[in-house]
Amino acid sequence: MRKFYQKIKKEDPIVGDILLKELKRQQTTIELIASENFVSENVLRASASILTNKYSEGYPKKRYYGGNEFIDQIEELAIKRAKKLFGAEHVNVQPYSGSPANIEVYSAVLKFGDTILGMALDQGGHLTHGHPVNFSGKAYNFVQYGVNKKTHKIDYEEIRKLAKKHKPKLILSGATAYSRKIDFKKIHKIAKEVGAISMVDMAHISGLVAAKLHPSPFPFTDIVTTTTHKTLRGPRGAIIFCKEEFAKQIDKAVFPGMQGGPHNQTTAAIAIALGEAAKSSFRKYSKQIIKNADCLSKELLKKGIKIISGGTDNHLILVDLTNQNISGKEAEKALEEIGIIVNKNMVPYDKRSPFDPSGIRIGTAAITSRGMKQIEMKIIANLIFQTIQNKDNTTIKQKIKKDVKKICKKFPLYKNEL
Ligand SMILES: *Cc1c(COP(=O)(O)O)cnc(C)c1O
Repeated sequence: MRKFYQKIKKEDPIVGDILLKELKRQQTTIELIASENFVSENVLRASASILTNKYSEGYPKKRYYGGNEFIDQIEELAIKRAKKLFGAEHVNVQPYSGSPANIEVYSAVLKFGDTILGMALDQGGHLTHGHPVNFSGKAYNFVQYGVNKKTHKIDYEEIRKLAKKHKPKLILSGATAYSRKIDFKKIHKIAKEVGAISMVDMAHISGLVAAKLHPSPFPFTDIVTTTTHKTLRGPRGAIIFCKEEFAKQIDKAVFPGMQGGPHNQTTAAIAIALGEAAKSSFRKYSKQIIKNADCLSKELLKKGIKIISGGTDNHLILVDLTNQNISGKEAEKALEEIGIIVNKNMVPYDKRSPFDPSGIRIGTAAITSRGMKQIEMKIIANLIFQTIQNKDNTTIKQKIKKDVKKICKKFPLYKNEL
């Protein structure tokens, strides 16, 4: 891939150089950010394609611009593949990313000020699930649920109680830092008991759902959103799925309600990613993601590191550092110094601030894409533990950094030319 960016460097040395440095950073570090992944070469090719040149406001065969014969074909194909992969009735592939997709859903089916029941950010939810600093929290009346104080798992009875008390118009589930299976069916039933629309934001786990390794929100959930760039391993983008009865409202809310022209290069890359996710190799990959997360979490537990909820069912581990004499922010920094990339994260009922919380979040989707397996998970758990124990010891950290480089070298990334 270097040559691809070296070409840019010839004409624009500054941008070319930054891209080359970022390529090297991705190749030489262990990427454990739970929301990231490494896309295939074909997804990259499509993302960088000439489709970026085209304006196509509207929907297939109903565009506001001429020249959309092939854009229609790519959008129709992405929709067809998404419907088939997840078993959805209606699909919109135009949302620019996960956050706008969620706001588009709210605006499609609710009025400002309506009540939504969703998971709180500091308990595992997402900013767009009603946090006060986010548009969602300002425009709608969010009531928030969390996890049980002891088990750190979703308490479905609490959701039912809150639903009966607050009579929300919409009940939202899905999370950004929750490591257990979510019973979407149970939450859908609660929504129907109180006459609410059920919505699932499966951004983190949609790849696992596609691989049938996490219970699917289909076909019963009214509206489902997902990003396409997390476990689904596509380009940065999003999809909204819904039952036929919401189709018109959803499409109108995306365009012209919120957005202008769709990002057609992304649509093509989404179509490719969906094609890849339908293959048996993707199911094998997804199984390995879960095996790796399980192994990594067990290895950390063995070393006395606390894991929220005691383990994981998916690609994600929420580490509680309160007994390790290091904060989440310090751990993120120390780990970055040795080449392991994680993000600081609140743990449920955290007593510290979001800027320096008690935990870190770890995910295995990206390193599994590189081909790493349980043997590497054991080594990585040890490197994380050593780094946390020796956060101020430069000599030890230098040695750990070499070990990180060694692992990365064994699992080449983007070595081919595009
Ligand atoms: C990542 C995420 C989003 C937002 O996606 P962006 O593409 O970053 O806007 C929304 N909801 C959940 C649950 C997420 O994990």
